[in-house]
Amino acid sequence: MSDDLPKTDAEWRDRLTPLQFAVLRQAGTERAFTGALTDHFAAGTYHCAACSQVLFHADSKYHSGCGWPAFSAAADSGAIRTKRDLSHGMLRTEVLCSRCDSHLGHVFRDGPPPSFTRYCINSVCLEFVPDAE
Ligand SMILES: [Zn+2]
Repeated sequence: MSDDLPKTDAEWRDRLTPLQFAVLRQAGTERAFTGALTDHFAAGTYHCAACSQVLFHADSKYHSGCGWPAFSAAADSGAIRTKRDLSHGMLRTEVLCSRCDSHLGHVFRDGPPPSFTRYCINSVCLEFVPDAE
C-alpha cells in the first residue's frame, strides 16, 4: 500500500477503469445485478479498489437480493466514513472510503439483526482478497 494517492482526476483515470472512475470518483452506481461480487461468498476481505484499504470482512457479507454486494458491518469503524446525500431527490447516507475519499455506495437501516445495517456497495469499488489457506 503506498501513500501516493492520486490527487487529480487525470491521475485517478490512469489508475482506474472507466467504470471504476465513474463510480468511485464521480459517485456513480453500477447497474444492479451486474457486479462481479454481488453473489460472491468466500472467506476473505474486501479492499477499496482505489487505495487498497480493508473495508469489509467476508463474514459480514450477506445476500440482500438488492442487486449489489451487501454487508452488515464495516471491517472497523475507521474504514469508512458517511455523509448525507440529497441527490436524486432522496435522503440517503453515502458511504466513502476513509482513506482516499472514494464513493463506495450507500448505507440503509433495513439490514439483518442485530445491526439492521445494510451497506450497499458497488462491486466495482471492491477488490476481494481471499484468506490464505
Ligand atoms: Zn480507498
